[in-house]
Amino acid sequence: MVTYTPMIQQYLKIKAEYKDCFLFFRLGDFYEMFFNDALMASKELEITLTSRDGGGEERIPMCGVPYHSAENYIKTLVERGYKIAICEQVEDPKSAKGVVKREVVQLITPGTIMEGTMLDDKENNYLASINESSDGSFTVVYNDLSTGETSLANVKDGWQSVVSELFNRPIREIVIPGDLDERYQTELKERLEVTLSIQEETKIPEGFDSLTEELNESKELMEAYGRMLNYLQKTQRRSLDHLKPVQIIQLKDYMTLDMYSKRNLELSETLLRKGKQGSLLWVLDQTVTAMGGRLLKKWLERPLMNLAGIEKRLEIVEGFMEQFFERESIREALQSVYDLERLAGRVSFGNVNARDLIQLKQSLGKIPEIKEILSQFENNGVHGLGRDIDDLKELYLLLEESIHEDAPLTLKEGGLIKDGYDGRLDDFRYASKNGKKWITELEQKEKQETKIRSLKIGYNRVFGYYIEVTKANLHLLPEGKYERKQTLTNAERFITPELKEKEALILDAEEKSVDLEYQLFLEIREKVKKFIPELQMLAEKVSEIDVLQSFATVSESNDYVRPVFNNSRQVQIEQGRHPVVEKVMKDGSFVPNRVSMHDETDILLITGPNMSGKSTYMRQLALTAIMAQIGCFVPCESANLPVFDQIFTRIGAADDLVSGQSTFMVEMLEAKHAITQATKDSLILLDEIGRGTSTYDGMALAQAIIEHLHEHVHAKTLFSTHYHELTSLADDLDKLKNIHVRAEEYEGKVVFLHQIQEGAADESYGIHVAKLAELPAQLIDRATEILRQLEQKQPDGKTENNQSDETEDDLQMSFFGSAETQKTGKPVKKKNSQLHDELMKIDFMDITPMDAMNILYSLQKKAKES
Ligand code: ADP
Repeated sequence: MVTYTPMIQQYLKIKAEYKDCFLFFRLGDFYEMFFNDALMASKELEITLTSRDGGGEERIPMCGVPYHSAENYIKTLVERGYKIAICEQVEDPKSAKGVVKREVVQLITPGTIMEGTMLDDKENNYLASINESSDGSFTVVYNDLSTGETSLANVKDGWQSVVSELFNRPIREIVIPGDLDERYQTELKERLEVTLSIQEETKIPEGFDSLTEELNESKELMEAYGRMLNYLQKTQRRSLDHLKPVQIIQLKDYMTLDMYSKRNLELSETLLRKGKQGSLLWVLDQTVTAMGGRLLKKWLERPLMNLAGIEKRLEIVEGFMEQFFERESIREALQSVYDLERLAGRVSFGNVNARDLIQLKQSLGKIPEIKEILSQFENNGVHGLGRDIDDLKELYLLLEESIHEDAPLTLKEGGLIKDGYDGRLDDFRYASKNGKKWITELEQKEKQETKIRSLKIGYNRVFGYYIEVTKANLHLLPEGKYERKQTLTNAERFITPELKEKEALILDAEEKSVDLEYQLFLEIREKVKKFIPELQMLAEKVSEIDVLQSFATVSESNDYVRPVFNNSRQVQIEQGRHPVVEKVMKDGSFVPNRVSMHDETDILLITGPNMSGKSTYMRQLALTAIMAQIGCFVPCESANLPVFDQIFTRIGAADDLVSGQSTFMVEMLEAKHAITQATKDSLILLDEIGRGTSTYDGMALAQAIIEHLHEHVHAKTLFSTHYHELTSLADDLDKLKNIHVRAEEYEGKVVFLHQIQEGAADESYGIHVAKLAELPAQLIDRATEILRQLEQKQPDGKTENNQSDETEDDLQMSFFGSAETQKTGKPVKKKNSQLHDELMKIDFMDITPMDAMNILYSLQKKAKES
């Protein structure tokens, strides 16, 4: 048995309780780490690894960070998903007998960080927790500690929906029960890249009952919320007064976007770069406040299904659009509104300083102005926004009377509280000020009496006030009155009893005044704390105004229009545009297109060459639907839409690198998800299904999927394909309509017009696209030659899965055709179609085997000659 020193024993005891954290163990001015923590931290933080004697045979690995600069190190670790337990000395080392007592005072974890520099202003930072119920459903709880918001959703349809629910939300950490299925745990860690923390206790801790009203005593929901609260208590060990009552998210009230759609549609981040730039959020975000930015993101994640709710937002957006100048004034006023929501959180945690309170006051000071501007709008909706805002005048006045405009960041050096706020403070200040005046007068008096012009009175912390006389003038000082205190190279410093007496008065008054200021500040902070619920309410209102003005601003500058809704499952969009592609192209060269699906049309089969704009067209519809349902205007000339309940997508070849699945497998999983979950009110986008496997395999699957959707699902579906053969499905499936993207040849090259037209397109223009991509000319020539050979080898027009009666159109076409095609506009049969004709003439019932041999011989001969 190793006998460690008492301090290391203390360390090990504490560490045993925080196995999954780095233990930052306070030792003087440093946080030290030992053993394995030290080995890991020295690597992660690139700090020197040392060792110390701990009583055992081997030295103990150790590394440390200075406590005053610990924040950056903590930030690095938290960003990498680690948790940190801060262990402080909780008694004065001077009075400690034996080892100084130490305790963990706070756990800093990715989901519970509060410090400003670790948080992104326009992004929530959620801690989530998951609870599995006996009926197989899951409850997901979200908490943003910095804003106090807590919400919860019950997910009924299985684990995948839980992952979809969590996907793409700003979650850094998830609290789970220890016995959650291992596979689920792996999926959470790998797919969502979150830190998992285990919390078994689910009983709601004391003092939080008032927050649970909405849960209606439901056992499942209470347990789920309890798990979250217990974890918060365990990690925070401080006031959680700012937690808002938990709200239930009724998933059925919102459009469902499965994980694939959230990713593929690039709502808040792009697939490739994972950044905001290039996402829909990037286009829509003209919010001015951080709170507004966060709310916009939330709205985007949960488009509404309730028509009245959607129309209410649209009405306000319209109102904001009608009055440009007033809207600009609102934007300007919002610029001065600080992050009230996070501020309320910090008030509750007791770490606001005087500057924060000044910012709070300035923000509150803007509210009457915002209300006034809102009242100038003619639109009832906008007008109403301002009516029920409480401008918290009482709080404003409190701060206006108490906190000094130029207050410093520190709380213990005075300068926080205004004159006139507290009588006692004013007295101290008067005493100290008067004393100082007396000292200035004394300096004059001494100068005159001694006739030493360079005599001065100064102050330092060690000796207090002193009279300084240069050595050259010492002989001018009278004997007896001055007591020597300090000798410098060129001067001597003296004190007098009179000076000492005044000094005591001044210093006493100053000390008392600084102490009192601190006390008063704490009292003010407590008073502010009482306003937390009102502040949170105000923050909600301001964020809403901000998001709606942002919609109006964006809608106006991009020429969006107000969508109209129908309940007859019709989609009619005239001159529709893709909000992001249009914006990226800048030059206005985006080609608008119509989307037209009557109640009798469920599926649009889109054909057209690669790169012609098929997936852009499909995404455009989904984004338009989402924009409409979050209450924003939409990019087109007019839009008449149903309210979609869900959107499913299979778009692009974004390989699922995380789970290591093949592209084709992902494709099938996404398709399956859509097929099994969609209703007639859903929108499905399937791009090039079947591309990931061999041609016939892929085509067969694609066709079967279309047929299934047509017969059983009835969702509005856009299906793009380069299998031209599928277009004939329109003959049998009456709810399927062919459309295609137009392309033209110009000087031997394909020009994409990006124009959608009715009917089926011809074949793919792969080689032309390769030409566009400037592959070497030699290579292009060779590909053209191979294509010609392949075309010659193929029997005319027939494919394996399309054995319908022969028509002219079924024959293989040369895409831009020969000269003859271009003249007549009709396709031309190839040379070997003669053989085909002859074959077709043979009546097998009427010939002998010998005849058959002869015919075959002659056909082969002709084929060789041709
Ligand atoms: P596909 O799915 O047919 O392969 P994409 O939708 O990916 O083609 O579009 C290819 C490119 O064409 C895109 O990069 C886009 O910039 C451009 N594009 C697509 N649609 C349009 C349009 N309507 N107007 C202008 N450019 C477009």
